[in-house]
Amino acid sequence: MQINIRVLDLQKATKLNRKRLTISTLGSHCSLQLLKGAKDEGFRTLLISEETRLGFYQRFNFIDDIFVVKNFKEFLAEPCQEYLTRKNAILIPHGTLIAYLDNEQIEGITVPIFGNRWILRWEADRKLKQRLMEESELRTPKIVESKEHIDKLCIVKLHGAAGGRGYFLAWNKKSFENAATKLIQNKVIESENELYIQEYIIGVPVYLQFFYSPITHKLELMGVDRRYESDIDALARIPAQQQLEVGIEPSYNVIGNSPLVLRESLLPEVYSIGEKFVQTTKRLVDPGIPGPFCIEGVYDRDGKFTAFEFSARIVAGTNMFLDGSPYSGLVFDKPMSMGRRIANEIKLARHKGALRKVLT
Ligand code: AMP
Repeated sequence: MQINIRVLDLQKATKLNRKRLTISTLGSHCSLQLLKGAKDEGFRTLLISEETRLGFYQRFNFIDDIFVVKNFKEFLAEPCQEYLTRKNAILIPHGTLIAYLDNEQIEGITVPIFGNRWILRWEADRKLKQRLMEESELRTPKIVESKEHIDKLCIVKLHGAAGGRGYFLAWNKKSFENAATKLIQNKVIESENELYIQEYIIGVPVYLQFFYSPITHKLELMGVDRRYESDIDALARIPAQQQLEVGIEPSYNVIGNSPLVLRESLLPEVYSIGEKFVQTTKRLVDPGIPGPFCIEGVYDRDGKFTAFEFSARIVAGTNMFLDGSPYSGLVFDKPMSMGRRIANEIKLARHKGALRKVLT
């Protein structure tokens, strides 16, 4: 299946007044980084903020304009869309947009979006996601089709962008059923069918933050991070005896990120992982993946990388590299956050009359 719906987007990109562009995003996730980067590159900036956070975002003088909504669901309503259009805004998508809107809603947004809006569907849908990763020749964890087939340590996930909340480990049918029953009792899920079972890969979880430019045709490694997840990462602070007695069922809810520098010998493979991914997106989801993306996986004891996820847009782990990372520093002569890199790409595309290559 090929999803290829680009007629709409070209119209949107050409309607923009190229001289007076505004960079906009939803106030959450990585909006500060995005708008700071946009300001540093000379753009006007616009934030869509929920009422409750207005005071917080007013603290930052690189935000020129704030459109206030009661709830992000109002983002789709005419007043907000009309305001963005009037401001000649480009929207930068991030995790919060995906959490609030479904695929059809995102695809129907009336303002131009930086990056490929159609690929966000591939991120959200486990089957499409698996296909994209497999066709990119990424090593991926084995999928366990049913609880009857659990014969080793597995991680059990909820469908959709759950952010690791409610995930649990299972090593046989019984441990699966025990944890699933608790989720049903707590009304997190309605039935076991909502769960997705994957082989658990033991090793170091690593998040590879890339940027692909369809203007320069180059792939850039912008940073590497690891996540700090509650409370799986906190378990090591509790001695084994207490762990056993208290019977904690850990979750994988991301609380923050910390930087990571990989062994240099791993880097050539990192680039080839990113390159293959870019090529596959071009083949499967026109126009590919202009802009940021992240490949998320585990390095095992032999230094082998297994990818369990990808994000087809900026990830919040880039927030820590506001002044650049040990990797972006190798490519750029000035501090380059992912947010700034996005704005820089828009500038470059505008200069070359090629905004259509970076917007949908
Ligand atoms: P995800 O929502 O898929 O990004 O997963 C959330 C967290 O669960 C990750 O950051 C990892 O810590 C962990 N995780 C997910 N899949 C696997 C896997 N197959 N093996 C080991 N850990 C995993």
